Amino acid sequence: MIRANENFRELTEAYLFSEVGRKIRMYRETHPNEEVVRMDIGDVTLPIFPCVAAEMKKAVEEMSKISYFRGYGPEQGYPFLRNAVADNDYRLRGIDISPDEIFISDGAKSDLANLGEILSPDSRVAVADPSYPAYVDDSAILGFAGNLSNGKWTRLICLESREDKGFMPELPSGEDCPDVIFLCSPNNPTGECIRREGLEKWVEYALRRKTLIIYDSAYEAYVREDDCVRSIYEIEGAEKIAIEVRSYSKTAGFTGLRCGYTVVPKSLKGKYRDGSDVDLNRLWLRRQTTMFNGVSYVVQKGAAALYTPEGREHIREATDYYLNNARIIRESLDKYGFRTFGGINSPYVWVKGLNGESSWDLFDICLEKGKFSTTPGSGFGHNGDGYIRLTGFNTLENTVKVMAEIRNLQ
Ligand SMILES: *Cc1c(COP(=O)(O)O)cnc(C)c1O
Repeated sequence: MIRANENFRELTEAYLFSEVGRKIRMYRETHPNEEVVRMDIGDVTLPIFPCVAAEMKKAVEEMSKISYFRGYGPEQGYPFLRNAVADNDYRLRGIDISPDEIFISDGAKSDLANLGEILSPDSRVAVADPSYPAYVDDSAILGFAGNLSNGKWTRLICLESREDKGFMPELPSGEDCPDVIFLCSPNNPTGECIRREGLEKWVEYALRRKTLIIYDSAYEAYVREDDCVRSIYEIEGAEKIAIEVRSYSKTAGFTGLRCGYTVVPKSLKGKYRDGSDVDLNRLWLRRQTTMFNGVSYVVQKGAAALYTPEGREHIREATDYYLNNARIIRESLDKYGFRTFGGINSPYVWVKGLNGESSWDLFDICLEKGKFSTTPGSGFGHNGDGYIRLTGFNTLENTVKVMAEIRNLQ
């Protein structure tokens, strides 16, 4: 008998982004003469940098010569890239992370799910609401979430994240103590960044309660304000409780190339049921060498080019470009009285409706009156209802064009 994973039965709703896509297609079909600008895009729009393309071309040439050909690479990633990560992203910033604590990945999304495989299946998982939908869906598929009952997952711990707290998730309260917490900063979808002081509270909590924090910093390159951290390891003691997941996707246009990395510090310990300690770094290495054969040499060469002065400059330029779009979005909406969040250390602007409309109503209003698409906040959790997410992942021209007509929404 082919017995399917029952957990999929709980995932009834269409995945948020496909539903948005379907609605936009329908609108375009019924309004063939109108142009809809995509302001919902969670994907970069600028091409990969010339220095990345050049390194990748060189790598392809190497691979075509018998003396340079490379087959399987190290599962953990080539040393040239892991060393560059350890030096540039950590050591030069005063954080002690070594290359053997770094695992090159094919992007953040795979690892966010795969990390569940080194944890006990009865672990309690806490996820902020609203948040990036993969944390909940991964947890559901892997069996951490339990069942969906009246719109709530029976085993998932919800970290309420509301407007009155500036969309900062609240620490778990009472007897519901999670084993794992997903944190994302700068946040998708709210665009808000956890400040140093705020993150210290999370690390303190995790150290005290022996909780693992899976820290998704896919938008680290967008951090501009000094009191926002780029890495959780900037906080003392975090190396004992945190795994950091990063990606070149939003940093450098790698959404189609696929590369990122995950940091599993050697001082991070888990516990087996009999009370004995185990290095999570060792478990993750074992998991990766068994189930993963590494990222392509060509792509890793491209990623290494990001650590040259030229690569650094391009990252700054590209993220500045998206941040400028986000600023224009935020300022235009502010002018018309909308309440906005994010858009300063993030390409995302999180917007509240003027009259208490639901997210999908706001989506329809923007589409019909403003001729642009958005992402309904309710797709990120119940606290997201009443909000929409707009993104700076667009051209400056399109952003200006849409925002010039924003008064039509009133
Ligand atoms: C885009 C995104 C990811 C996925 O990044 P990939 O590296 O492309 O898989 C992970 N987390 C968040 C919050 C994201 O927005």
